[in-house]
Amino acid sequence: MKITSLDLRRQYESIRDEINKAVLEVIDSQSFVLGPFVESFERSISKYCCVRHAIGVSSGTDAILLALMACGVKNGDEVITTPFTFFATAGSIARLGAVPVFVDIDPSAYNIDVSKIASAVSNKTKAILPVHLYGQCADMDAILEIARANGLMVIEDAAQAIGAVYKGKNAGTIGNVGCLSFYPTKNLGGYGDGGLVTTNDDELARLIKILRVHGSEPKYYHSHIGINGRLDAIQAAVLSVKLEYLNDWSESRRCVASYYSEHLMGLPIRLPKVESYNTHIFHQYVIATSRRDELIQYLRQQGIETAVYYPVPLHLQKCFEYLGYKEGDLPESEKASRETLALPIFPEITLKEQDYVINHIKNFFAGR
Ligand SMILES: *Cc1c(COP(=O)(O)O)cnc(C)c1O
Repeated sequence: MKITSLDLRRQYESIRDEINKAVLEVIDSQSFVLGPFVESFERSISKYCCVRHAIGVSSGTDAILLALMACGVKNGDEVITTPFTFFATAGSIARLGAVPVFVDIDPSAYNIDVSKIASAVSNKTKAILPVHLYGQCADMDAILEIARANGLMVIEDAAQAIGAVYKGKNAGTIGNVGCLSFYPTKNLGGYGDGGLVTTNDDELARLIKILRVHGSEPKYYHSHIGINGRLDAIQAAVLSVKLEYLNDWSESRRCVASYYSEHLMGLPIRLPKVESYNTHIFHQYVIATSRRDELIQYLRQQGIETAVYYPVPLHLQKCFEYLGYKEGDLPESEKASRETLALPIFPEITLKEQDYVINHIKNFFAGR
């Protein structure tokens, strides 16, 4: 049997007519960038996330960049974040000339270790940028308290966490600003790049809307130096169709995850831990073992594709050498980079496929 990490085709086939109709409608309208399709999608998603403002942008990366810009992060400022994340989190900080200050993760859920944040705050710190990794929120109350005590902004990288809930609040609506990604592989994926900024702050929302169109308001009068951060209408139309199904898909992902956990229990691997205050959306289902690389190879021989998110923690990336980190500085992130792997998970994966994955993981540990 062949099992891929993710199969987007099955999802498309289940909603093909609706998607095709929505895309053709945009083409018929000949309105391709921002405009009514984007505005309608923004209204739907602000309702979905229970947030005052939803601002469609060109990607998750640009959502983070715009959020940092709107929060006034500039050259020389420090922003506290996790090294165990996709590059965009810290890349966006560095793009503005600001300094990513990496704080190690808590190995139970792979999110930033909130007990280590306070000692990383300096008089240059401007913001904290937690990531809700794999679809589970970081411990936001602790983060908000440190931010309040030190006058810092909180920007949530919720690129993997649309629909995740922390103590009754939606991911991306807990701090000052939230950032979503609609990259095709995300839980709500477009048919190209796309992203969104969420905020309950009217002034930040106004600023982000200006910054996404090169800082102009009105057109051709530039009060700020912004970027081209606009969302395409075709993406908004696709995402509007898909948003209607998102809760069902998240529920299916949770079922897939609990089936894995139930049947992998007792093996010498670490299973995902869901904190009691969190509703997880399982963008990824990630296990850990000291025999990770062997296991990946064994599963590949059986036709099972797995993935590693992420093989190199950001503080050890070549481009961040200038920050002066060395191996051993953030041991939990480094260990997670060596030991974790993501199993195939998507709403349409069958029980038969899951059983195949589970049985081969069992065989691996039984045989050797
Ligand atoms: C996907 C992702 C991003 C970037 O989103 P793009 O839409 O690909 O630019 C940022 N942070 C995290 C944690 C992500 O997973």
